[in-house]
Amino acid sequence: MKKRKISCKICGENNSTVVTKNNFFLRIDSSDKKLINYDNLVCDNCGTIYHHPDIDKKKLINHYQTAYRKTGSAIYLKNRTIDLPLRFDWTSVSFHRFHAFYEILLKNKNNFNFKKKNKILDYGCYQGAFLFACKKILNFRTIGTDYNKEGLKMAKSFFLVDEVFETFNNFYKKKINADIITLLHVFEHLMDPVDFLRKIKKNVLKNNGLLYLEIPNPYSNPLNDPTHLFLYSKDTIEYILKSCNYKIITLEQRGLYQQGSLLRNNKNLNLHILAKSINKKDIFFPKVLVGKKVYLNLKKERNNVGLKLVLFRFKTLINMFFHTSYTFLFMIINYISPNFAVYLHEKIKKNFKR
Ligand SMILES: [Zn+2]
Repeated sequence: MKKRKISCKICGENNSTVVTKNNFFLRIDSSDKKLINYDNLVCDNCGTIYHHPDIDKKKLINHYQTAYRKTGSAIYLKNRTIDLPLRFDWTSVSFHRFHAFYEILLKNKNNFNFKKKNKILDYGCYQGAFLFACKKILNFRTIGTDYNKEGLKMAKSFFLVDEVFETFNNFYKKKINADIITLLHVFEHLMDPVDFLRKIKKNVLKNNGLLYLEIPNPYSNPLNDPTHLFLYSKDTIEYILKSCNYKIITLEQRGLYQQGSLLRNNKNLNLHILAKSINKKDIFFPKVLVGKKVYLNLKKERNNVGLKLVLFRFKTLINMFFHTSYTFLFMIINYISPNFAVYLHEKIKKNFKR
């Protein structure tokens, strides 16, 4: 294990372990080379996985405004490019995240008063498709905030979100007093997650309000997204929330609502956490030393995913070989006797159906 002496931005621990590179199966260096070819480190104490060296803030903002939002429909003209203003492929993904949220909230209904008109704030709401479902099914008052103006326009006009605003520095001063704050695949993008957890308690989240997070599980996701500044396993997120005075109500691992590509069809793809804010001010990060466990799990799961990928490719190869041989054989039979070729093909089809 390769060690580094770097101070963890979450718990302050000075020792970390380097996740060694593996570009073939699950990339662990940056998917965008312009954004620093960083190492991923695991904090020896809290197990948080983070980049080193830090990504340049300017480059990161530029990435968010360009490559990150690029759709597959861009038109390339001679000297210019025009692209769709929104990533419509993300709409249904964020809409589907409502399914898990709804099930988890209902399962833990003792912690939530459904009878009153509840106020929900979705931090990083983008187009507001998730809030649309919250309003339609749960009759919540919906508030959305995001850095992306185009997304907010859509949230307000098309997805009927009650209130939207751009996320600026004054965010923590806004007296929203939400009953519940949600961050769906947003928490891992925050520059200072501990500060966020502390500051939302002042005005944004009401006393004993709920916090719902959906984050990628590092054991089943690549570590190469430069925008994922920190990644948290089950042990780590539990530790951080507890240390920041949130009581965990439930923590579940789930897959996508609808099937995705091979590596995304994993029932442990994401972590879903519902927690309650506790009225206690002091934040304290004790020694837990879960880093080694996280590192070893990461290594093990990476090998499993690699194996899954090889088996899938091998199956595809066998399938292709079979289909090509079949077509070739029938071309020859068809040349000799077309009637017999049809008869044989029908017979084989019937047997396969059985
Ligand atoms: Zn740490």
